[in-house]
Amino acid sequence: LIAEAGLYTASDQIIILSPKNVDSVLFNSTAAVLVEFYATWCGHCVAFSPTWKNLARDIKEWKPAVDLAAIDCADESNRKVCTNFGITGFPSLKFFPAYSSSESRGLELRGFPRDVRGLRHYIIDKLEMHNEAWPPACPPLETASEAEIDNFFQTNNVKLLALVFESEDSYVGREVTLDLLQYENIAVRRFGVTDFPSCYLYNSSRHISRLKVLNEARTFYSYALQRLPGVVRTGKPQIPITDLLKNSTLQEWRQFNKTSVYMSDLESALHYSLRVELSGHISISGNDLTALKKYINVLAKYFPGRPSVKSALKTVDSWLQQQKGTEIKYSNFRDVLDNTVQTSDAVLPEGVQWVGCQGSQSHYRGYPCAFWTLFHVLTVQAKEMAIPGTFNMHSEVLQAMRGYVSSFFGCRPCATHFESMAQESMDHVTTLSAAVLWLWSRHNRVNNRLAGDLSEDPHFPKIQWPSPELCPSCHGLKKTGEHHWDQGEVLTFLRNYFSSTHILMDYLQ
Ligand code: FAD
Repeated sequence: LIAEAGLYTASDQIIILSPKNVDSVLFNSTAAVLVEFYATWCGHCVAFSPTWKNLARDIKEWKPAVDLAAIDCADESNRKVCTNFGITGFPSLKFFPAYSSSESRGLELRGFPRDVRGLRHYIIDKLEMHNEAWPPACPPLETASEAEIDNFFQTNNVKLLALVFESEDSYVGREVTLDLLQYENIAVRRFGVTDFPSCYLYNSSRHISRLKVLNEARTFYSYALQRLPGVVRTGKPQIPITDLLKNSTLQEWRQFNKTSVYMSDLESALHYSLRVELSGHISISGNDLTALKKYINVLAKYFPGRPSVKSALKTVDSWLQQQKGTEIKYSNFRDVLDNTVQTSDAVLPEGVQWVGCQGSQSHYRGYPCAFWTLFHVLTVQAKEMAIPGTFNMHSEVLQAMRGYVSSFFGCRPCATHFESMAQESMDHVTTLSAAVLWLWSRHNRVNNRLAGDLSEDPHFPKIQWPSPELCPSCHGLKKTGEHHWDQGEVLTFLRNYFSSTHILMDYLQ
């Protein structure tokens, strides 16, 4: 499925350079670009590539001001480009300021840091070196003066000013400024010199309040500021403070608790997948048939449904396992599913009724939301149902998801991205707990990639989940001030959140 041969793919949010796009990306661009020149055969480059990918995820919001790119110099078709830039060793990093001319060979970063935090600071240092040709999307990064703040609301068309108080050598204020650059109605400036960072909000009536966060650090400030009432991502509609969702969809709105899992979503996902998505395949054979058998098998084993639904899944599973040929007809599968040959206590309800997965408009959320939820529930169920001391197939549920997505999931770009993540690391999953965490962390990667995308429902912004409000103990700080997920706490949280006893049965048909 994956066409790219180098160390990076399109889902890494890194611009992949080639002779075709190199001039348009690097020269006369409104954003600065930091380029990694690498060779696929170079061990140091392979070792450095996870850092480069993590950096791309970490500074995704900074893209209009500074972007990351990479070029594989081992690819013969790229060789001339690498030679023109004077590249002789790998990996090499070069910084191209905004509006670089076509004569520019970039600024070589010798002895660059090998960690995300160090690189991030390095990028800020380089951004600050711009003189006249400052990237237009980049807000001021220097410390604000008292005069600037006094006149702020007269000279800037924003409703809120967030002031980060910090010491001179801290990067937090500048990082938060860049994290918010794609948001409207708010500006961020760094100010003053204090020993510990803190963030205060000013509005045009000069009302001042301290920003409440779990930890006084970049990720927590950015997350909180991006979610303030009235603050919106550029290009997204203003989100009403009151709940206007009821009026924004033509379908009947079902009230729901945003922090619960609903059985109605899970059953709807089953209906859609088994009766709608699969029905596009008149006959199913080869790898697709294997994928279908594995999918139905994990559903039959772990779906924590009503007895009638479990019974229907078990019937379909045993029928499928009996099919020894290399091909089945979807119509035969459907007959079994629809109970034409069974007793009536085995039923999968027809139709979809999204509840926790309702979108504010009909083209948002629904099936993909419920599909993720289904597999989080299944990974947790597999963990809960394991008998200690016996052999368990650790990644059985993940492999079933991988097979289904690859063979049948209607969104083909989604399938390509998911397969790329699976190829990278699914084989390293060696415990049932690791399977639960793998799916959580990969779902967060997708969230990171899609944040701000057209497909994002403005009422349900993509966040690194669970939020600090939903699970305070999941979030911590390293000594360096970097955000850190406490994976033990995350696992406990997921096992509780997706457990069968917490699934709400409201709105079932
Ligand atoms: P979703 O991301 O669908 O999440 C559903 C619910 O799960 C959330 O409401 C939240 O309660 C919970 N949740 C959120 N994050 C996590 C987490 N990390 N761990 C556990 N639970 C979590 N869309 C694209 O445009 N491009 C793609 O490449 C793409 N790839 C996809 C790959 C797969 C395998 C799937 C299933 C979907 C993919 N989608 C893709 C769809 C996209 O991920 C969302 O499902 C869709 O945009 C709906 O988003 P949502 O707001 O309902 O939340």
